[in-house]
Amino acid sequence: MSLLEVRDLRAGYGSLPVLQGISFDVEQGETAVLLGLNGAGKTTTVLTLAGLLKPWSGTITFDGTDVTGWDPRRLVAEGIVLVPEGRRVFPQLTVAQNLRLGAWPYRRDRARTRTVIEQAVEYFPRLRERWNQLGGTLSGGEQQMLAIARGLMARPKLLLIDEASLGLSPKLTLTVFEVAKQINDAGTTVLLVEQNAGVLNFADAAFVMEMGTLIYSQEGHEKIDHGAIRKAYLGV
Ligand code: ATP
Repeated sequence: MSLLEVRDLRAGYGSLPVLQGISFDVEQGETAVLLGLNGAGKTTTVLTLAGLLKPWSGTITFDGTDVTGWDPRRLVAEGIVLVPEGRRVFPQLTVAQNLRLGAWPYRRDRARTRTVIEQAVEYFPRLRERWNQLGGTLSGGEQQMLAIARGLMARPKLLLIDEASLGLSPKLTLTVFEVAKQINDAGTTVLLVEQNAGVLNFADAAFVMEMGTLIYSQEGHEKIDHGAIRKAYLGV
């Protein structure tokens, strides 16, 4: 049984269909990547997985439970957490406050909150240096780190990260991919949505999306074939 099983998923906006019936599996413990150009439907996919967009049809099974159509809060409690595109940190709150807000549902358990914040900051020591700085005044890369760290506050089983590398320098992009891998090594399954094919160096499984369909899938038990994926993705 895979951790995430998506079957014939269709979703869209109003009457505009975007996902045309996609199916894929993400195995427990792996880092999977979803590649595709602008408008391919990647964000729509993760919004649907996180419950922010209702599926039109198809099923989403998570850890053996049919979670199709569940609301975001329930999905977070079940272990699916989305770090959305665009580093949505709270600009008027400090780094510390942003993180505590991420742990809000568990605020009564102070020991738990302290532990998850400690763990998250270990991945991103820079956040400790910026502890009392307002989110809105952080650099783009620091905001991305904060957004991912905040996602970790809920102790996800599956962390969905939407275009973490967008607008980052090559060096920071690498840092973010490396940290995603470390988070994965520590036991969290990760699905990275990317346009940057460099992410393949960190992936166990890869999917390429085009016009709301998956045009290429490489499951975790197969070896990543960079050439084939780049061909599907870039047509080269
Ligand atoms: P990007 O890398 O540009 O974020 P993407 O692969 O994540 O691309 P989506 O954001 O999922 O693509 O968009 C897929 C399609 O859905 C696009 O044609 C887009 O115009 C459309 N779309 C996205 N959001 C909305 C919305 N809120 N209302 C209507 N159409 C939308």
